[in-house]
Amino acid sequence: APYRRVDLRELLKSTLVMLKRKVPPGVRVVKDFAPDLPPVPVYAAELNQVWTNLIVNALDAMGDAGVLTVRTARRGDHALVEIGDTGPGIPEENLPRIFTPFFTTKPVGEGTGLGLDISWRIVVDRHRGDIRVESRPGDTRVQVLLPLTEPAA
Ligand code: ADP
Ligand code: MG
Repeated sequence: APYRRVDLRELLKSTLVMLKRKVPPGVRVVKDFAPDLPPVPVYAAELNQVWTNLIVNALDAMGDAGVLTVRTARRGDHALVEIGDTGPGIPEENLPRIFTPFFTTKPVGEGTGLGLDISWRIVVDRHRGDIRVESRPGDTRVQVLLPLTEPAA
């Protein structure tokens, strides 16, 4: 599918609607969308996969209760999408490995360890963007940066 310019808010909202049943009653969802973000040229179906992976990871980390934050902002010539959670965080020794295929800390049958690997390929290889992770107990943020200019391929 070709890329097209989309409103990231609409993309994120539709992902949240699809995941509605997976959000426990004790988890609050906070949406914080920048009003000034121009449409971003993306492969929409693929990015939908990225938001799903990141939001499911955030929900898995929090369990029954917490706050899921879905934020957009402009960072110069990039759009920023940040998925935040109030779960226990990612231990520092795991940070270098979380994007490695099949790396998972989840019980057998629950995690494939492929979500972040696939997300990296979609964001970095396909959109020439970047993914950054900041994590401490109670405050984990996965930041996706997407160029506002057209992807090369
Ligand atoms: P999976 O979800 O199948 O385990 P992923 O590639 O999506 O595979 O994530 C790899 C690992 O990164 C997870 O098993 C977990 O240890 C860690 N991780 C990812 N996101 C979070 C998060 N929001 N909070 C805590 N740990 C996380
Ligand atoms: Mg995952």
